[in-house]
Amino acid sequence: MSDVTVIGLGEMGSALARAFLRSGLRTTVWNRSAAKAADLVAAGAGLAPDAASAAAASPVTVVCVSDYAAAAAILDDAVLAALAGRTLVQLSTGTPREARTLAAGMEARGVRYLDGAILAWPRQIGGEEAVIVASGPQAVFEDAEPLLRRLAGGVIHQGVDPGAAAALFAAVLAYLAGHWIGFAHGALVARSEGLDLAGFGETLAGLAPSLGADSRHMAAVIAGGRFAEPESALATAGADIARLVQQAQDAGIGDAWPRFAADLFRRAAAAGYGAEEHVAIVKVMG
Ligand code: NAP
Repeated sequence: MSDVTVIGLGEMGSALARAFLRSGLRTTVWNRSAAKAADLVAAGAGLAPDAASAAAASPVTVVCVSDYAAAAAILDDAVLAALAGRTLVQLSTGTPREARTLAAGMEARGVRYLDGAILAWPRQIGGEEAVIVASGPQAVFEDAEPLLRRLAGGVIHQGVDPGAAAALFAAVLAYLAGHWIGFAHGALVARSEGLDLAGFGETLAGLAPSLGADSRHMAAVIAGGRFAEPESALATAGADIARLVQQAQDAGIGDAWPRFAADLFRRAAAAGYGAEEHVAIVKVMG
């Protein structure tokens, strides 16, 4: 027997297995393409000959593959028989519906199931910055928590609804999508105007605490419906963003992102929300 099994040894699964090994746990691994296990085996992991043997080797199995379809391809009858009465922690990314469907299937097969989502890059796994959000039965979470703490400084039980972790991940990813696209357009602006890209990155890093505070503020505004007392009105932010379109055209860079953003603010202003908080754009996004 080993302490934990990791199935899926891509970028993230390998990082999970490495963190378990570093923390002193006896770790069994399996991956569809066995070559990816070589470094981990050299570091002390046991390589199972197939996924069912991997699941049979430990009381807890962590699966981290591309998506739920990949996980379903692995979780065949033999694997499910091996998992019966044991714990499966699913850390592949999926939708809340996929998580709830898989949880129901696992319950029907007598598998103790925890659904999770990883809010970290592989290089952060095992460190304080990494966060893992999990959802499912309280007792299963409490049993798995010490293992998850070997992977992430932040371990959050998002609730008993198995879809809750995937739901939070989806909300965070929606934010990150804007962050990545916005950064890329900002880099084009900086480069087209002769600014230092590293300086642009540093400026944003310096703003991180205030961006965090703004996230709390926007959540409170939307949850409480308190749009009416803006520090910066939606119309003001919209006019600033419309100028981004002009800058892009002046500089000869793409204007797809500022045009999308400006259009959203224009529609919100046209709908009568110009004097409200800028996050009142949510009212025309639903
Ligand atoms: P990856 O490097 O592309 O690895 C994908 C893994 O899935 C490999 O082990 C691959 O096996 C396996 N796989 C895919 N289809 C399969 C199938 N049909 N049957 C069996 N195995 C299959 O991806 P990753 O970066 O490790 O990501 C894994 C999960 O972590 C994803 O859900 C991702 O959203 C999540 N995640 C990743 C990050 C990140 O920064 N990388 C961050 C947060 C969350 P083979 O090696 O045989 O192809």
